[in-house]
Amino acid sequence: MVKKGKMLRCISSDATISAIVLDSTAIVAEAERIHKTAAVVTAALGRLITAASMMGIMLKGKDDSITLKVNGDGPVGTLMAVSDSSGNCRGYAVNNIVELPLRQDGKLDVGKAVGKNGLLYVMRDTGGSEPYIGCSPLVSGEIAEDITNYFAASEQIPTVCSLGVLINPDLTVRTAGGLLIQLLPFCPEEVISRLEKNIAVLPSMTSMLGSGMSPMDICRKALDGFEIEVLQEYEPEYRCACSREKVSRVFATMQPDELRELPDENGLTEVTCQFCDKVYHFTREDLEEIIRQSRPDDTEN
Ligand SMILES: [Zn+2]
Repeated sequence: MVKKGKMLRCISSDATISAIVLDSTAIVAEAERIHKTAAVVTAALGRLITAASMMGIMLKGKDDSITLKVNGDGPVGTLMAVSDSSGNCRGYAVNNIVELPLRQDGKLDVGKAVGKNGLLYVMRDTGGSEPYIGCSPLVSGEIAEDITNYFAASEQIPTVCSLGVLINPDLTVRTAGGLLIQLLPFCPEEVISRLEKNIAVLPSMTSMLGSGMSPMDICRKALDGFEIEVLQEYEPEYRCACSREKVSRVFATMQPDELRELPDENGLTEVTCQFCDKVYHFTREDLEEIIRQSRPDDTEN
């Protein structure tokens, strides 16, 4: 059975604050299992996937999806994470193996691995002809601060974002999770200062999850002093949407000459999904069939 994350979406009863809390341990563990990432890459990618999942459930349409792309100038290269509207998500890093010394405080140096010169892109595909694309400069490459800055700079929504991934000595994932709190329009000053006090003393996501707190417990702690209403609960998982049909559709957009150059000496073309490492094989005949079907007029000449 696939292990799932646990996510909660809440609102304060006075409708001034919305909060999403996600225990993404199972999801990030699956990302590490697939990509066999070094610890600092697991942390960076895990944080971005966790953020994508939380932003996924904020999408309005059932079939909408969101893509987060971080292209910092650090050794990890570009990071990608995609989520559907139920928080089911996937992601990859261009470089899975990056070794960096720990920071002075003993933590993984995610900021250095990602780099702080670059952009965070947020692409929402809502079924229209063009996806909505927003972007903001990276602040620290630590991902959570970059997400907070994105919401402030690009969407003018005051946001608190906390993300954490704790790695075991054997490189598996011990805990991972995220918190996304947003102020709703016309949030009064006293609510903001109460929230700021809560956040100032809030332990890290990984220490709260590690001590056995559930997303609901974490939500109550972050919104201490507020009455909370649970809007929805989710059980998102690491899920890839790739299929042989989708690969065929990409091939169909290529020129016949380009396609005919793809097969190796055995006449085979191998395509590996970057998100889940699934391998698709196409024979020379398969490609000819795709060419025939995508250019029906040519067959009559
Ligand atoms: Zn896939």
